[in-house]
Amino acid sequence: MEDAHRCSTSSDLSDSEPFQESGSEFVPFDEESADEPSVTDPPKASRDVKSRKRVRNEKKWRRSVAKKKRCAGEEYTTRSNRVVPAKTFSPCVCSCKHHYKNMIPEKRQRALHQYFYSLENFDFQTAHLFSLIKVENKLRTYTGNLQSRREKTRIFLLPDKNDAERKVCKTFFLSCISGYS
Ligand SMILES: [Zn+2]
Repeated sequence: MEDAHRCSTSSDLSDSEPFQESGSEFVPFDEESADEPSVTDPPKASRDVKSRKRVRNEKKWRRSVAKKKRCAGEEYTTRSNRVVPAKTFSPCVCSCKHHYKNMIPEKRQRALHQYFYSLENFDFQTAHLFSLIKVENKLRTYTGNLQSRREKTRIFLLPDKNDAERKVCKTFFLSCISGYS
């Protein structure tokens, strides 16, 4: 949560996976994405399949359904049986003084949010997010007489109503695009 109140237009890239800082954020890279087939049909129960295998297939199928629903912003149930409510749009709130809502008003926020969930596909959504996040080298900083290692900074951009890219803070960015913050 500490990040929610750190309202700069960028954040450190010290971690290797950009969206894993908090459990509630949209996570483009998770362990579920790699091994799941994109099938939506329930597994066919064939006679010679042992019951253990069928249980596993059913689990896989349920996870696949849950993942699709999550990507579409619909209510879904996690593997630990937690029900995650649908992602409905609510106006972005962030505590910083930059008044991003003047640049990206509510109508625009809603359009950006709806666009993200209309993609309904994990890979498209990830690509969309990455198209809006720029990575830049941080200006050199000196700590004592040791030059700190080259650090990267992420810049979060949202297209305003004229499609001009506007820098916003991470909190605003995430709450606008995906409703996760
Ligand atoms: Zn902010």
